[in-house]
Amino acid sequence: MTADKPDLGTLEERAGVEIAAAGDLHELTAVRARYLGKKGSVAALLRSIGELEPSERGRVGQEANAAKQRIEAAAAARKGDLERAGREQVLASQRLDVSLRGTATRTGHLHPITHVTRDMVQFFTSLGFSIEEGPEIETEYNNFEALNIPADHPARDEQDTFYLDDGRLLRTHTSNVQIRVMAGRKPPFRFIAPGRVYRHDLSPRHSPMFHQIEGFLVDERVTFGDLKGVLYGFGRHLMGRDIELRFRSNHFPFTEPSAEMDYACVLCDKQGCAACSQHGWMEWGGCGMIHPKVLERCEIDPDRYQGFAFGMGIDRTAMLRYGIPQLRHLFEGDVRVLEQI
Ligand SMILES: [Zn+2]
Repeated sequence: MTADKPDLGTLEERAGVEIAAAGDLHELTAVRARYLGKKGSVAALLRSIGELEPSERGRVGQEANAAKQRIEAAAAARKGDLERAGREQVLASQRLDVSLRGTATRTGHLHPITHVTRDMVQFFTSLGFSIEEGPEIETEYNNFEALNIPADHPARDEQDTFYLDDGRLLRTHTSNVQIRVMAGRKPPFRFIAPGRVYRHDLSPRHSPMFHQIEGFLVDERVTFGDLKGVLYGFGRHLMGRDIELRFRSNHFPFTEPSAEMDYACVLCDKQGCAACSQHGWMEWGGCGMIHPKVLERCEIDPDRYQGFAFGMGIDRTAMLRYGIPQLRHLFEGDVRVLEQI
């Protein structure tokens, strides 16, 4: 029965080679079954012990069990190796390099008109002005008559105004708001009214819809000097530096005295350039002391109260501030253009 010994040794050796050669867990399971399973080689060997001489059985049985344990241990070690290798393979394939540059999310920005409007609102709210809004569809009375613009005034011409079938109109300025705010209220008033206005103007340099801001203050002892002080501060806030303002006498039906405001061209410093049509000055808006008749129409005593009003195009201010040559660039919605601003 000495033949059993080399058998066991050979068996163990072969098992060792096959376990080491198992390339994955599936193969290892098959090898394990071949040697350690119920019908495996080791089990067969153990069963054959009964055929040995009784004196041999104990020793051969011990050796066979020891060999079985070593094969078990080798299979378990190989299993551990394969599992570790599998985990490392997964980690390597899913490797995350946190030092790689990410893909930046593109964010938009506010439209230039929104920017300028917010800056305007911020300035006036810091001075205690409130923000008022009015309807874009307005009555003739609030848009014209109450503002001292009689029926025969050129501004009433249908070429300038969009009329609706019911006799109402698209407001031609934000001045309708001052009538609505003053009606039924007592001074002092201090407010601004930014918003959209409409003129029947199809010239390519203009737009039938544009944005205006109107400022309005009524109190006792208000002077033109107060108006100028507010406008200088406003210009400085918008342009980020001191600007030179010029007031030219003008006529508006709802203010007396009235003035056009220009400011020194920020691009050429009054030397004259294409942006200011070689004038050195840029038109900014209109202003003046509120006409006593307008106050009277709103049942405010003009002997006791005075006020000033001013208005300017928000779009025009944005053009000046950002150096935008054409009004249409603001309304066409071309992102390539807006991104440059
Ligand atoms: Zn200029």
